[in-house]
Amino acid sequence: MFGAALGLAAPWQVVSVEFDQQVGRLDLGLDFPRGARFACPEQDCAERACAVHDTVDKTWRHLDFFEHQAFLHARVPRVRCAGHGVHLVNVPWARPGSGFTLLFEVAMLTYAKQMPIAPLARMAREHDTRIWRVIEHHVNTARAGMDFSQVADVGMDETSARRGQDYVSIFMDLAERRVMFATEGRDASTVQAFAADLSAHGGEPATQIQRVCCDMSPAFIKGITEHLSCPPVAQDTDPEGTSEPTVGHQPQIVFDRYHVVAKANEGVDTVRRAEAKTRPELKRSRYAWLKNDANLTARQREQLTWLTRPSMHLQTARAARWRDDFNGFYDQPTPAHAEAYLRRWCYGAKRSRLEPIKDFVRLVEAHWDGIVAWQQSRLSNGLLEGTNSLIQAAKRRARGYRSKTKMITIIYLTAGKLPLPQIHTI
Ligand SMILES: [Zn+2]
Repeated sequence: MFGAALGLAAPWQVVSVEFDQQVGRLDLGLDFPRGARFACPEQDCAERACAVHDTVDKTWRHLDFFEHQAFLHARVPRVRCAGHGVHLVNVPWARPGSGFTLLFEVAMLTYAKQMPIAPLARMAREHDTRIWRVIEHHVNTARAGMDFSQVADVGMDETSARRGQDYVSIFMDLAERRVMFATEGRDASTVQAFAADLSAHGGEPATQIQRVCCDMSPAFIKGITEHLSCPPVAQDTDPEGTSEPTVGHQPQIVFDRYHVVAKANEGVDTVRRAEAKTRPELKRSRYAWLKNDANLTARQREQLTWLTRPSMHLQTARAARWRDDFNGFYDQPTPAHAEAYLRRWCYGAKRSRLEPIKDFVRLVEAHWDGIVAWQQSRLSNGLLEGTNSLIQAAKRRARGYRSKTKMITIIYLTAGKLPLPQIHTI
């Protein structure tokens, strides 16, 4: 019964079953009959029937048997291959060097997608470093085999590992909605690291990326220009003078609308904070001004209705109207309408006599092409939707671990769409 449950194939068989009720553990002994032959473990070796040289005793933790821990034991043969010498064979239920069966590892991976590692380790009654080693192994192996050569649209964003500090930059394949790469920091060098990783996964960083969706931070813009572009080759650098000058490559930058709107919101809040010094009714109204209409609580809606009455004469209310009018840019029916709309909006907003709104106009004008480009591509990082919630969840999963590498591992595990092992029997 245990042999069938483990899905063992010849020559392996269960030869002993010991259940210790006192300690609460099940020990299964596996063995092979005398004279059995095994495949050479070296990659690409065709030798399927090597003679056994000697054996090494090994133990693996397997999935619990009800509430009892279960272990497999076997003497694992070392075989002599004519071409490769003496090597330990691969057993079908575990990967080389692991103290867990594959099924146990797959179970850990499945749980790690759903719960933080510290309680997972307690539940599994294992030290968390052993659990991390399993997760890191499978994530790294699966990532190493990823092919990014077809990725054309990339989203970049930063997230803080802890409140307001320890930034991690995240690079997404927008078509497949998967995280391709994540690294510590939020400067232009993170884009350089992304470009190197893209090369390592079959990509051509200097020419491959067609569009990048990001915020308006100078670091990302600089990184894109330096590491995801190539300048045109001028004719005079060509000694023969015969070939055509090659056109350079520069991805179209599309500024993520949520980040652009967030900047407009910052302008509104700056006006509100300054005005609140003389208008106490503005105190504790921050979220009423910044939330989407649909997300307002009844109390906030009431507060806003009160504060936006014309007789209040609030600068904040005027600033919020300019912000709402700016959002109208995203609702225009065609790119031509949208660009004309934005031009009229800038013209008016510059005369708003609200310094933070005028600052926002300058920001829009300085990033004009990338803001208007949204109308053509409709690209968005969607970080307020699915991916961001996965990343927030990854932070919680890795909570209690200072290393950013662990958080990044969980981001890959949950948002990388990696081909992780799936097993039906051991
Ligand atoms: Zn061999």
